[in-house]
Parts: sequence; C-alpha cells; structure tokens
Amino acid sequence: MTFQEIGLNSDLLKAVTELGFQTPTPIQQQTIPLLSKEAVDMVALAQTGTGKTAGFGLPLLNLINTSDRTVQALILAPTRELCVQITNDIKNYGKYMKGFAATAIYGGARIDGQIREIKQGVQVVVATPGRLIDMIERRVINLNAIKIVVLDEADEMLNMGFKEDLDIILKETPNTKNTWLFSATMPKEVERIAKNYMNKPVELTTGKRNEGADNLEHIYYLVQGRDRYLALKRVADYYPDIFGIIFCRTKAETQEVADSLIKDGYSADALHGDLSQSQRDFVMKRFRSHTLQMLVATDVAARGIDVNDVTHVINYNLPEDVENYTHRTGRTARAGKSGIAVAIITPKDQGKIKDIERIIKKQFTRKPVPNGSDVCEKQLLNLVHKIHNVEVKDEEIESFLPKIYDELKDLSKEELIKRFISEEFNRFHEYYQNAPDLNIEKGAVDGAFGKHRTTRFFVNMGQMDGFNHNSLKDFLSDAVKLHPRMVFNVDVKSSFSFFETESKFVDNFLGMNAQDLEFNNRKISLEVSNRKMKEGGSSSGGGSRKSFGSGKSFGGGGYKGEGRSGGGKDFGGKSREFSKGKRRDGDSKDRSGSFEKKGERRESSSGSFEKKKSFGKSRF
Ligand code: ADP
Ligand code: MG
Repeated sequence: MTFQEIGLNSDLLKAVTELGFQTPTPIQQQTIPLLSKEAVDMVALAQTGTGKTAGFGLPLLNLINTSDRTVQALILAPTRELCVQITNDIKNYGKYMKGFAATAIYGGARIDGQIREIKQGVQVVVATPGRLIDMIERRVINLNAIKIVVLDEADEMLNMGFKEDLDIILKETPNTKNTWLFSATMPKEVERIAKNYMNKPVELTTGKRNEGADNLEHIYYLVQGRDRYLALKRVADYYPDIFGIIFCRTKAETQEVADSLIKDGYSADALHGDLSQSQRDFVMKRFRSHTLQMLVATDVAARGIDVNDVTHVINYNLPEDVENYTHRTGRTARAGKSGIAVAIITPKDQGKIKDIERIIKKQFTRKPVPNGSDVCEKQLLNLVHKIHNVEVKDEEIESFLPKIYDELKDLSKEELIKRFISEEFNRFHEYYQNAPDLNIEKGAVDGAFGKHRTTRFFVNMGQMDGFNHNSLKDFLSDAVKLHPRMVFNVDVKSSFSFFETESKFVDNFLGMNAQDLEFNNRKISLEVSNRKMKEGGSSSGGGSRKSFGSGKSFGGGGYKGEGRSGGGKDFGGKSREFSKGKRRDGDSKDRSGSFEKKGERRESSSGSFEKKKSFGKSRF
C-alpha cells in the first residue's frame, strides 16, 4: 500500500516523499484512511518507533482548512521536548500547504512569544497541558473551532498528574470534536479517559501490545552495585561509536552520572526536569545533531523522544515501573532499524529481569562486562578502521613526506603497522592492564562479596597530612600497585584513617610497613583494624559509605554522597579509566595541589600521574 493509495492529498504526498517515507507503517495504514474519511474517536496502540506521529499528523493535516486561521486541531503531549518534536514533524508534513501554520506551547519558555504566535493565527497547536491551561485562563486561546484533539503518550500525561488538566482542557473543546488517543501502552487510566471522553472509540492495535520492537536485542550485565558506573564506562568504551541514551531513575542521579561522564572525558550530558528550558533545548539540539554521544535522561524527560539512529539504550538501573522499560528501549530500533538495549543490574535486580521478560515476551542475554582486553581489541580495530578510511590530503602533506619516509626507511610494512598502532595501544594497555573484572556470579547476593572477604585497615595518616578520601585512596593503591577500586570505604579522620580492601591483599598493605615509607617526616604505619567495617561514623562519605559496603552504592544515594564530598571519588578506578585531556588536567591540579607540601612521596605520585595524563586527546 502506498501513501497515494491511502488517500493523502498531493501537498502531503510531496512532503512525505521528501522525508523519505516510502510506504506507510502498519499503524499509518490503519489510521490514515480511517481518520481522513470518517469523523470518529479512536484509541490507537502501537509500539514505540512505529510512526504514530505521522499516523495522526497526516490525517489531521488532511482535515485542516488552511484558508481559515483559527485553531482547528490540538495535540497534547507530556513534555516540552515532545511538543517541540511533534511541532517540527507537523510543520514538515505541512510544508507545502499554503497558509498552514502550527505552533508549540509549553512551560518553561516565555509565554508572551507563544501568545503572539497564537494571535497571528495557527491551525494546529501542540501543547503541554499545564501551559495550555494557563493560556485558556488568560483567554488568549480560543478552542471553540477545534475539530480534533490528539492525546499523544496519554499514559505518561496521566502518570505525570495531568489528569485534572486534561479534564479541564477537554471540557473547553466543543462536543463535536473527535479525540484520537495514541499510546504505546493501555493502562487502566487510559481506558478511563477513553470511556469518559470518547464516543465509541475505534480501537486500533498493531503488533502485540507493549512488546517493543523485534529488531531490538536485550542484554544485561551483572555487577556489584558499586561497580555500576565502571560498567557503564566499559560499555561506552567497548562501543566507541555509541550514540545512546542512558536512563537513570532520579533527576539527581541523572545529573550525577552525566557530570561524571563529562569529567571522565566522555561526550555526554543530562536531560531532566530540573534544568531550565534553554538548557534542555541546548542538550537536545546537541544530541539530535549527534554532537553529543550520550544523553543521560530520566524516564519522563525522554518519553517519546525520536532521535535518528540511536544505537544503544542503557538502563543504568532498571526502571522502578517495569512498563517503563518498553518506553526507554523504544528510543532505539525505531522505524525498522536495529538497536541494543543494555541493562546494568545488580544481583537483587535479577527478579526484575524476569518480570520484564514476561512483558516484552523476549529473553535477555547475559553478557560479561567487557574486560580490558576486549576493550583494547575493540578500540584498536576501530582505530585501524579509521586509519583505513581517513581522508588523505595529498597536496598538503606532500612537502613533509620526504623527511618522514627517510626517518622510517629501515622499517618493513609490518614493523610500521606495529609501531603506529603501539603509539595508541601502549596507552590504553597500560591503562587497562590492571582493570578489575567487574563480573560477578549469577545468583550472587548483593553485598556478600564485601562482607566476607574484606579487611579493614588503620593507617596513621589523615586530614592533617592533607589527605582527603580521594587522595588517600589513590595514594594507598598507588603504593601497593593495585587498582584504586581495591581501596574502599575510606574514612579519613584528622590524624588517622580507615580503609578496606579485599582480604587477599592484606599482605600487600602490611608490606608497606617494611618499606619505611615516610610522609611529612612521619613513618607510615598500617594495621589491621578490629573495628567492624559497617559502623556508621564517617568523616567524608556520610551514610553513603554504608551502602557502599553493602554493594549498593551508585544506584541509590550512596554514590551521590561520595561524589559530593570528594568529587566523584568512589567511582572506583576512575583515575585510571579513560579520560580526555580536560578531565586529566583538572585532576592533576587537584592532586598536585594536595601533594604539594608533602616531600618525597609527591614525586612518585605526580610521576605516575603524568603517565596517566597522557590519555590526553581521546578516551584512548
Ligand atoms: P512513535 O511515536 O510511534 O514512537 P514516531 O512517530 O516518533 O514513532 O516515528 C519514528 C520514526 O519513524 C521517525 O523518525 C519518523 O520520521 C519515522 N517514520 C515514520 N513514518 C515513517 C514511514 N512511513 N516510513 C519511514 N519512516 C517513517
Ligand atoms: Mg510518539
């Protein structure tokens, strides 16, 4: 079936062809002929990414009278981003309709500009409920001539508490209008709306309800809670060309994960309701243009978002409400493309995976978190691929070549390849060689790992030696050549501190005593502490360390507390994970600052830091 056959007028046909739509999607095949001809109420349920916007947008535009500049159609959507997106889509479809105008009205932006646009005369208004009510109350918008009301992502509007607003708005519109409700899911509240506000609605369903796209692969990684962030970075490193959305549960967590990724040199930013409208616009603009590789978002902020070619949806943790899993992962594998849905889970989430499998009627595959060598291989091949395809500016480079050829003349092709590759490889090899394995056994119980196999140490250094949580962690792990992640629950007091490590490393740390290390002219001394590991008192991390000990940290409040007091310190081996130059420099300042006064140890510490700093230009 073609768009022509299902009855689009020629203006719309032209626009649709220009957008590259060749055949209508299944939901469009049902809605367009029906809604263009008959005045009916309708409930349409279709999976995410199946073209619902055109499914209502095209028949709606088919019915608009462009010689009349009154508001004839109203589209309601839950978020500002969605309003803007739908408005753009509608404008694209209506591009060749003379005299056609549509506008978006939503909160967080100045109302006067929006009022002006309405007054100039538009036929289609796309609105968030709150701002529309504001306009209704100010009597600056007239809904008397409305022929069609579309409720897009109706379930989310109800989730967000817009029920009363919807009641008010729908009452303001004439009885003669038709209501079209579009949703990926049909919870009870949506059924109620259908019952209360619609007149014998036609129900259309394509595919199976709420199951998500077929071309979507679902995988999960099982890690300890405290390794969540490290696992996220491994995933990002393992897919160098990732273009993804990372979902977090709360606005705070969203911001924290984004901040940490930015600090660690990734191309990432946050999208959530606490940002100003201009911040949100800026982030979305960068993401849509692929300037930003990773968007860290809340469920609400990213609902319905349609950005082309999203490769991965990452569940930093599983959604509170399992239904949201479909909405999250629906941001990828859109319009027939494929995508990967990743969930980073801890042992206690394993049951939830089963619940989700029941809903999506698909199995997850458990994959091991990529280890250092996996990442190295992936990155190397990516590099080689780039070298193979790089544009060579023959003319510009020519004058330099004789000297270069001369310098390299004794090397065979194989030798040359090895050396060019090693220039990159050595850096990330060094960086990843001691990277811990983040995988844990299936069926493991959260926290068991920490409880039984860790030992708490006392060390006679503390705040008066200039240490904070972060620098002590780095200092100690550096001294015994272990990954900083192996030093945890660091509790810095004024003249001494406590920390924990895995029991198998006890000798490494006790061995420091024999090395006669001095700091501020004091001999460094460590002892196994009798204090129980999970007692409350702390100087830096507050209650958060408690949850850290029980393996919960990043997911809940844990990581927040840690992060705030010391600058994201308990992301385990952050300082040794990849970084771009910016982060490194900032870090280097901090560190050399805090080591400034401290005599000999500084040398080796900043020395080892210099090496790490060379992660400079890219994550690798
Ligand atoms: P939904 O609202 O169902 O989640 P959207 O309306 O956002 O999906 O559409 C998803 C993507 O599919 C958009 O990028 C849109 O441009 C594209 N699309 C819609 N209809 C077609 C079509 N008939 N052919 C090709 N692509 C389409
Ligand atoms: Mg949609």
